[in-house]
Amino acid sequence: MELRAVLTTCPYCGVGCNFIFEVLDGKIINTMAAKTGPSNAGSLCIKGWSVHEFIQHKDRLTKPLIRRDGVFKEATWDEAYDYAASELLRLKDTYGPESVAFVGSARCPNEETYIFQKFARAAFGHNHVDHCARLCHAPTVAGLAVSFGSGAMTNSFAELEHANCILVIGSNTTVSHPIAAKRLMKAQANGAKLMVADPRKTQIAQLADLHVQQNLGTDVALINGLMHVIYKNGWHNRAFIEERTENFPALAEMIEQFPPERVSQITGVSVPDIEKMAAWYAKSQDSAIVYVLGITQHTTGVDNVKSLANLAMLCGHIGRPSTGVNPIRGQNNVQGACDMGCLPNAFPGYQYVNVPENVAKFEKAWNAKLSGTPGLTMVEQVEAVHEGKVKGLVVFGANPVVSYPNANRVQKGLEALEFLLVLDIFPTPTTALAHVVLPGASFAETCGTFASSERRVQLVREAIPPIPGKYNWEIIPELSTRVGYPMKYASAAEIFDEMASLTPAYGGMSFPRLEAEGLCWPCPTPNHPGTKYLHKDKFTRGLGLFQAIDFRPPAEAPDDDYPFWLTTGQIFSHYLTGTMTRRCPTLHHENPEVFVEINPQDAARLEIEAGEKIRASSRRGTIEVKARITETVKPGVVFIPMHFLENAANRLTNAALDPITKTPEYKVCAINLAKAA
Ligand code: SF4
Repeated sequence: MELRAVLTTCPYCGVGCNFIFEVLDGKIINTMAAKTGPSNAGSLCIKGWSVHEFIQHKDRLTKPLIRRDGVFKEATWDEAYDYAASELLRLKDTYGPESVAFVGSARCPNEETYIFQKFARAAFGHNHVDHCARLCHAPTVAGLAVSFGSGAMTNSFAELEHANCILVIGSNTTVSHPIAAKRLMKAQANGAKLMVADPRKTQIAQLADLHVQQNLGTDVALINGLMHVIYKNGWHNRAFIEERTENFPALAEMIEQFPPERVSQITGVSVPDIEKMAAWYAKSQDSAIVYVLGITQHTTGVDNVKSLANLAMLCGHIGRPSTGVNPIRGQNNVQGACDMGCLPNAFPGYQYVNVPENVAKFEKAWNAKLSGTPGLTMVEQVEAVHEGKVKGLVVFGANPVVSYPNANRVQKGLEALEFLLVLDIFPTPTTALAHVVLPGASFAETCGTFASSERRVQLVREAIPPIPGKYNWEIIPELSTRVGYPMKYASAAEIFDEMASLTPAYGGMSFPRLEAEGLCWPCPTPNHPGTKYLHKDKFTRGLGLFQAIDFRPPAEAPDDDYPFWLTTGQIFSHYLTGTMTRRCPTLHHENPEVFVEINPQDAARLEIEAGEKIRASSRRGTIEVKARITETVKPGVVFIPMHFLENAANRLTNAALDPITKTPEYKVCAINLAKAA
């Protein structure tokens, strides 16, 4: 009998907790929190404790599959590679290289994502490569990059405990990032004021010193209102504005139009609460902002992020410990996948493709002809399929049929593809539509790195050999080689070293340096200690840029046909499309099926009982859900979690996009409710 302990990093949310797998005779039997984990210091949430339950699940894909005449047949690796390569080359020759698009993943390690985007760019000569950050935090990357010059969490998790005031906005923190929520609770216990702005009365909202329940999609108005009060009362930081920022007059002119009385009408938040929030945030010594997808998944996602950046700069709560603008990432490696350039507009390290020097740099390094034209985002790729421009899709670790908005339209698009190649660890509704399915190795079956929300690059360590017999970092290069762009690596560390040599913020990192507790980027040189908080003394872009942001309402509002506001989100026991968590018995037991939260007043009016099956319909589709009657939502608002593929909330959601990042408006649309037949 052999019992081993393997230290590694959680594959779920962006907090980046470390834990130890107990491995007995080649089977992972238990997960234990690691006291040395810089983000978790010995704690895990229920998802972390249960990770080992999905890894060796009987449903794992273990053999390549080829679908012919509608039937999947097991194939050898050679047969699958050859068939996939011949189909990709056929599309390239028949319709041109731009007829094949690529979708990566924010849950795979950096090394796999780096070679995936390299494969797309070098083998096909375009930039039609994207990943699920598009659906969550692309507005963070775009918004903060414009305001500060760097699109990442500005401070670290540990610093939050020492803030004097924390504004949590659009974040159900105890559910989506429970170990980060512990930091907020500790800060509150240390005397900090905790304010939550959320349309739902979530658990963190109930624990807060002040909760305001703004109307869905009114965040810009609320934040402009706070800034109006701060400026009128002279609570702003004049020295910081003069020395560290530009374009303040434009902001001052805009916020003049948002007196608290008008803001109260738009947002539904009372004038005294607006004034109290403004005073607490501005007058505290060190105030921090924490936000998640309640801010970004809107047609105004970039505007919302820029507004929070404005608020932080107005008060000088940025560039110091325990302050800043702190987006907590939903997925374990969404920060890393963006850093790796799995984006249609940027090579690794946010080196933009439309800058000729960057194209020349990567052409030289990769020995390939590259494009300087930004590619299609994920949602645009689906539209290009409907228009007949994209004929083939390569999907690596993603499940678009469930995770994209307006899922019925996505499914129809994928059904129309001439060739769909999917690499994943479990069967999903997306693999069901594939022509070739390649079985992937999970995070527990490989070495590599994840970058957490606080920009901490941490090691992932191999606990068991890859279940399908190959590492993902072997599969992608083999495929690339067979379509004409040769790639070969001996290890994940070799890939990391190549990536770090081309990515300045990672330039000083290597696997040996990451052994202890990882490093937070930027870490440009081998002796650099990493960077805990950003924008000390100077913003990445030089001066912080204030932007005048006006309020725009959501793309779809209730009417006579669809009279309810729908908002979607996570529950504590599940993660994304549930592919992994719904296979963990512990988590499945907590929440086995989809539900809709309805306010008691609405339930009474519609004569809906708790637990009753009801039909939820939007202009895009219909699902059946069980009623959960609760004061968590206001009258007229309902909430449906996003994890349940058999009745996916995304059959209802609206694919209206943020105009800059093309991020869909998952958080707001109009629906109807009726008793099920
Ligand atoms: Fe994993 Fe996030 Fe839970 Fe930590 S908080 S154990 S990273 S899911």
